[in-house]
Amino acid sequence: MNSPISKIIVDGRDFYVKRDDLIDPYLAGNKYRKLYTLLKTPSNELKTIISYGGTQSNAMLAISAMCQKKGWEFIYYTKTLSIAMQQEKSGNFYHATRLGMKHIEIENEYYRDFIASLRLNLDKETFIIDQGGAVEEARLGLKVLADEIRESSLDVKSLATPSGTGTTALFLALCLPEYKVYTTPCVGDTEYLKCQMRALCELPSNLIILEPNRKYHFAKPYKEFLEIWQKLLAAKVEFDLIYAPSMWMTLLEHTKEDVLYVHSGGVSGNESMLERYKQKGFI
Ligand SMILES: *Cc1c(COP(=O)(O)O)cnc(C)c1O
Repeated sequence: MNSPISKIIVDGRDFYVKRDDLIDPYLAGNKYRKLYTLLKTPSNELKTIISYGGTQSNAMLAISAMCQKKGWEFIYYTKTLSIAMQQEKSGNFYHATRLGMKHIEIENEYYRDFIASLRLNLDKETFIIDQGGAVEEARLGLKVLADEIRESSLDVKSLATPSGTGTTALFLALCLPEYKVYTTPCVGDTEYLKCQMRALCELPSNLIILEPNRKYHFAKPYKEFLEIWQKLLAAKVEFDLIYAPSMWMTLLEHTKEDVLYVHSGGVSGNESMLERYKQKGFI
């Protein structure tokens, strides 16, 4: 079933939002699109999924939800955790664990080598998903999203979605050459994002990278992020607090035309981010 499209008003402007956040409580947004090929893989073809990375990761939660649905074992490697993190009763790590994720900590000094060694002894029934899920397999799921956008026949020629690795924005731009696709780097700067994207393929001319006005560190609380997030919430859509704020800020500043914002999910991480905003005294 196609995810719905909502119309919202932000700063007096009309925007459309492709509601990929509504696909599933845990397996939603671009992580759902990126895992699409695996989701369509018959359950008996795999036994175990391995991944690694941060403990707040939206990808980790989505993979855990997928493995629960498919009956696959999910092993997730991270660096060592703080006691506070292990005891958290909310947020992505807590939910991923509840969905059956097996978590293994690797001592920080061995982490890099350990991750590099994961591929050495793989059997056919084990699949590794690299951090961020920047895999060629993501292309099919994003093509399905692109088809849904085309089928909606909205009178809009510009799309927007925020970037981490840039996989989502890049594949979307490739699948929809008749649209402009705006994105903004949320991890590192524009040069770093371009570099990540070029590792996948050459950048199409309809992909437009909007640079934020100042440098933001990934996943840190910022007052202006909270403000735009609250403004969007008042417009009746909850976005994530890590990627969406910069995308919306750059969109409002640098574009004038009607835009369809592709909701990239991540709302499940807001609980623990809001906690950090409170600790900082922003709320
Ligand atoms: C993972 C994620 C992104 C970044 O997606 P990329 O394909 O890595 O660019 C953006 N928004 C949210 C909410 C995410 O979870």
